[in-house]
Amino acid sequence: MASTPSVLVVGGAGYIGSHMVKYLLRQGCDVVTYDNLSTGYRDAVLGGEFVLGDLADKAALEDLFSTHSFDGVVHFASFIQVGESVKEPAKYYENNVTNTLNLLNAMVKHEVKRFIFSSTAAVYGEPQYVPIDEAHPKQPINPYGKTKWMVEQILQDYDNAYGLKSIALRYFNAAGADPEGELGERHEPETHLIPLVLQAASGRRPHISVFGRDYDTPDGTCIRDYIHVADLADAHWLALQKLLGGSDSAAYNLGNGNGFSVQAVINAAREVTGRDIAVEDSPRRDGDPARLVANSLAARNALNWLPVRHDLDTIIQDAWRFESSR
Ligand code: UDP
Repeated sequence: MASTPSVLVVGGAGYIGSHMVKYLLRQGCDVVTYDNLSTGYRDAVLGGEFVLGDLADKAALEDLFSTHSFDGVVHFASFIQVGESVKEPAKYYENNVTNTLNLLNAMVKHEVKRFIFSSTAAVYGEPQYVPIDEAHPKQPINPYGKTKWMVEQILQDYDNAYGLKSIALRYFNAAGADPEGELGERHEPETHLIPLVLQAASGRRPHISVFGRDYDTPDGTCIRDYIHVADLADAHWLALQKLLGGSDSAAYNLGNGNGFSVQAVINAAREVTGRDIAVEDSPRRDGDPARLVANSLAARNALNWLPVRHDLDTIIQDAWRFESSR
């Protein structure tokens, strides 16, 4: 492996991608971000080369791969809203599957054979047990989860046929922000709990809606496994190094292993921000399981990954620093 690999980050202007670009730059890598800025921000790409481009554009991909030599590709560019994926599946299959195929085919053609893929806990569907390990059945219940599972299956076939080695990382609830305050979550519209709670704290929203208090959990609200974006970036780096070192393809869960309820998140946000956060009780949101918690032992063992910003207060403090700066 080159000591400072050359890495293509697709979707490097988005939430997790931008943290990854910063991380790779700090490791001394040559970094190229390829992003169409449909949901990302140019100013979130803190360095390296930026190429404005779309994965649907095969000619642009051909140009990218013929003018650069990449040791590996990290792919974050996808649509991520579960509800939207139910209403507009075509948009999800086209971008998350067809466009990913364009990327993989360009890689195969140009003999770039190391690929890190952003996958999701949504590949498992309704949990049959928690904590969820990688052997849990894959029965995604919405088009978003299906697109990610399809790509994981495509990756197995591309490994068999073309020797393209990949590591799929199945995120649970990505959260938090750059501990140095330069980057954070900027989804439009925002649908995720922690940024919404903090927008209610800062006054950008009147209140936070709690989607259901009648779940089978100790306080009746849903439990999720929040994993800090800086810990995610670390896992991607370790996975990339592992592939560059000659490892075989794999898929790992990335989570804290700790579940926090919606109410616990609101309570922690009140503590961290010192603000009053107005709460409105709302009906359940479709498709929300009561508990989603990761068993991430495989990633810890195989990648030597140790999440260090796992504490809920730390996650919220980092996200609050970013929200306060806006
Ligand atoms: N949630 C909520 N109010 C909101 C947004 C989310 O009560 O305004 C709940 C949601 O029902 C789920 C948890 O917070 O139980 C985390 O939701 P999020 O959308 O952040 O991530 P998901 O688990 O859907 O990936």
